[in-house]
Amino acid sequence: MNNFLKNAIFAQKKSVQRFGNRYSVMTIIDGKAVSAALKESIRQRVSELPEKFGRVPHLVVVRVGEDPASVVYVRNKEKACEAVGIRNSTIVLAETTAEEELLSLIEALNGDNTVDGILVQLPLPKHISEARVIETIAREKDVDGFHPYNVAGLWQKTPHVSPCTPAGIMKLLAAIGVDPKGKRAVVIGRSNIVGLPVAKMLLDANATVTLCHTRTVDLPSVTRQAEILVVAAGRAKMVTGDMVAPGAIVIDVGMDRDPETGKLCGDVDFDSVAPIAGAITPVPGGVGPMTIACLMENTLECFLASR
Ligand code: NAD
Repeated sequence: MNNFLKNAIFAQKKSVQRFGNRYSVMTIIDGKAVSAALKESIRQRVSELPEKFGRVPHLVVVRVGEDPASVVYVRNKEKACEAVGIRNSTIVLAETTAEEELLSLIEALNGDNTVDGILVQLPLPKHISEARVIETIAREKDVDGFHPYNVAGLWQKTPHVSPCTPAGIMKLLAAIGVDPKGKRAVVIGRSNIVGLPVAKMLLDANATVTLCHTRTVDLPSVTRQAEILVVAAGRAKMVTGDMVAPGAIVIDVGMDRDPETGKLCGDVDFDSVAPIAGAITPVPGGVGPMTIACLMENTLECFLASR
């Protein structure tokens, strides 16, 4: 068992909550606690590096423009670097930056042997091709795990950098002692960033996986089969209690705005699903913190792989 899992195995909170006139005991997966345990294990490993290698890993984050969500995400990455002792540089470019200028910057960072990880915050302004940017980042510095060679590595089971959110989901399952082997897993959403790679990881962990999307007919009849249900559709509260089997493990990847209150919410209607689920991730505080912890881990692994 990974060191960090020894500390994180407690990472479920029983909580009694009132729904209308009845009370339910729910098991909430504490992503913050699992993430904190993972970051602490990374911090300890990083603290030993200067003596062995003369320096700590260095992550460079590039942000183009002032998209408010990107500003927050980049700040959170800076804070996580600080917490684990990884050196961070953030480069902010104007919204109008030409694609060629961004690509030249990436080439320079690729060739800079004091830089171990490069992350270009997505989404990018429309005039810049995300595909070209992702392809230009050296695969061995691609801490997001989005480079085509890293994607191919995941599918071909050859060495690769794993994408952070799917890797974080697998670590959350491990932290609460859920082994996907032999279980029926259903994933809603087939994006390159979340749905597809997490489906592959569940398959590699020997689950039987069904991947759903907008053309799936009778989605509830499929989701009700799931022992593990991962929802990454980007649709606020789309999964309701009637779509979930009693005792299912529900992982809510969504980061949406509740159309009624404007508050952050997930793809899962927490109030109707939590009393039925065996365990559920909250939003915020579930998958989100794991994504950043896995980014720190990828930066450390990229540093070590280049020694
Ligand atoms: P995306 O828009 O690229 O993909 C959404 C997928 O969901 C598509 O494959 C689509 O077919 C499917 N889908 C949409 N509506 C559906 C429906 N009604 N029924 C069935 N399938 C449907 O989104 P993404 O990048 O995969 O992100 C999904 C969600 O996860 C978003 O809310 C995003 O903000 C969130 N996210 C969170 C993290 C994190 O760290 N917590 C990381 C990445 C993405």
